[in-house]
Amino acid sequence: MEPPHIYVERTLAIIKPDAINRAEEVEDIILKSGFAILQKRRVTLTPEQASDFYVEHYGKLFFPSLVAYMSSGPVIALVLARDHAISYWRELIGPTNTLKARQTHPDCLRALYGTDDQRNALHGSDSFTSSEREIRFFFPDSIIEPVPVGQAAKD
Ligand code: ADP
Ligand code: MG
Repeated sequence: MEPPHIYVERTLAIIKPDAINRAEEVEDIILKSGFAILQKRRVTLTPEQASDFYVEHYGKLFFPSLVAYMSSGPVIALVLARDHAISYWRELIGPTNTLKARQTHPDCLRALYGTDDQRNALHGSDSFTSSEREIRFFFPDSIIEPVPVGQAAKD
């Protein structure tokens, strides 16, 4: 019988500078939530790299402080994989604003590990297109094509 095709999706997660000391705990939760960690890299972004990563927000009032925050210390970039990885990771991290998240989604990771309305501990890609771009940003050699697991097992 044909093995079932399980489509694994990838997303980019970042443990941001304000949560770097809780990285082990966060990685533990990631694994317990059914993700595989495919790639991992600890890096301190330059302000130029942080601006590039968040280019979609260029021109907004909070952009300069966002860039300062994201280049203020090391981050850990992680490529996570599971079914529905993009939406599931976004759901786990919760709303953008940590302070609001604490009121409406007290169990989400940003409520637990974030600091304020900007320093929210974690990033997650918001679509397949951004996940492709963001994975390539941190892991330029990465192959993006999704691989059906049943297929990989046969090869
Ligand atoms: P998300 O990270 O949930 O996708 P956005 O893409 O809107 O949110 O914003 C990117 C990052 O910029 C946020 O994670 C947060 O760190 C910061 N940010 C967003 N909106 C604001 C804001 N109104 N004031 C300050 N910082 C903000
Ligand atoms: Mg975003």
